Amino acid sequence: MAEKYDVQVTLLAITPEAERLIESAGRLCWATQDKTGTVPDRIQRWLEIGHESMVEHASASFLIRGSRAMTHELVRHRLASYSQRSQRYVRETEPSYLVPPEVRASAAAVEAYTSAMESAWKAYAALLKSGLKPEIARYVLPNSCYTDIVCTWNFRELRHIIRLRTSPRALPEIRDVAEALRAIMKREAPQVFEDL
Ligand SMILES: Cc1cc2nc3c(=O)[nH]c(=O)nc-3n(C[C@H](O)[C@H](O)[C@H](O)COP(=O)(O)OP(=O)(O)OC[C@H]3O[C@@H](n4cnc5c(N)ncnc54)[C@H](O)[C@@H]3O)c2cc1C
Repeated sequence: MAEKYDVQVTLLAITPEAERLIESAGRLCWATQDKTGTVPDRIQRWLEIGHESMVEHASASFLIRGSRAMTHELVRHRLASYSQRSQRYVRETEPSYLVPPEVRASAAAVEAYTSAMESAWKAYAALLKSGLKPEIARYVLPNSCYTDIVCTWNFRELRHIIRLRTSPRALPEIRDVAEALRAIMKREAPQVFEDL
């Protein structure tokens, strides 16, 4: 099994009684709200026929820690709200970067990688010392720089992100993030996420 990326995905908040809300919203269309909770796979049957909009009524917020390379891809998902640690207003004084497992697998790659990181942070410190603002000095920082981002997605967008980003074609780091999202959502809302 491939070694995992050093990323963290933490659930911060989720719509209370999300599945009940979704089912009763869906059942409103047929005036059968009194049957809410009586058919365990009701939501999955709706999803199968493309009646997906009712899962937009619930959402979840996550704190995600990973590289800027990964978050650059994550924020391409537009039906969302994001708040990310700023490199304009926060100084990246200490070197803090992700090392991909693919790099860790080879001593020569680790040496080249570490040397590039040291050199980037040395240049960053020198630029700050010369009087430049962090927003300018950050231009020398690498894609591997760790960042924190709070992401809020509704369940429909979460299903889309999980489907797209757990694919073998996705970036390995974002795949690990998407797999963590999938595990959390299967636990929190099994009726909505059980098919993924
Ligand atoms: C394996 C992989 C490789 C990729 N490679 C590249 C690359 O080389 N270069 C690059 O630039 N990007 C790349 N991307 C990013 C990709 O093009 C999308 O920008 C990204 O996956 C966001 O997904 P989405 O477009 O489904 O949008 P989301 O924002 O997640 O939207 C969800 C859905 O809402 C609908 N939607 C949202 N906005 C609109 C709109 N304006 N008009 C119509 N429908 C809309 C669509 O149905 C969309 O699928 C890659 C993605 C993957 C998974």
